[in-house]
Amino acid sequence: MCAVTLGVKVGVLVGGMVPAGASASPRYALPLPGAQVAAGFDPTATPYGPGHRGVDLRAAQGDQVLAAADGTVTFAGPVAGRGVVVVLHRDGIRTTYEPIDPSTSAGAVVRRGEVIGLVAGEHAGRDDVLHWGARRGEAYLDPLRLIRPLGVIRLSPRR
Ligand SMILES: [Zn+2]
Repeated sequence: MCAVTLGVKVGVLVGGMVPAGASASPRYALPLPGAQVAAGFDPTATPYGPGHRGVDLRAAQGDQVLAAADGTVTFAGPVAGRGVVVVLHRDGIRTTYEPIDPSTSAGAVVRRGEVIGLVAGEHAGRDDVLHWGARRGEAYLDPLRLIRPLGVIRLSPRR
């Protein structure tokens, strides 16, 4: 009985994550359209060490923060005194946005480009940035790679 139930649940889960006819990877966009990068991703980051587990985008207090891709809000609220929003996307990646005054709440389904809150507060001692992070499981990713996953494509001439 248990095995049968488990099998059904897994089947539903997989089917839900990769709908027929849809790409497994959603399209991502900057949460602040056209924003400059104030501080980049530092891949040497460890759970308790130095590094930078995301990118800081230049922003002004009160700027609208947009969902980077379609997904479901899994958290919206304060963490250690700062507002944080977490969105789970269908490829399993979670994007995080902080400091933010959320205008959404956990469980909400959001579309790419939908406003999820306003920049509010400080990050890394600055009040002019939005920290944008991305994780797959426990691993931190460079969120900018979601937008340009292939980097610069160079075509070599065929001979
Ligand atoms: Zn940061």
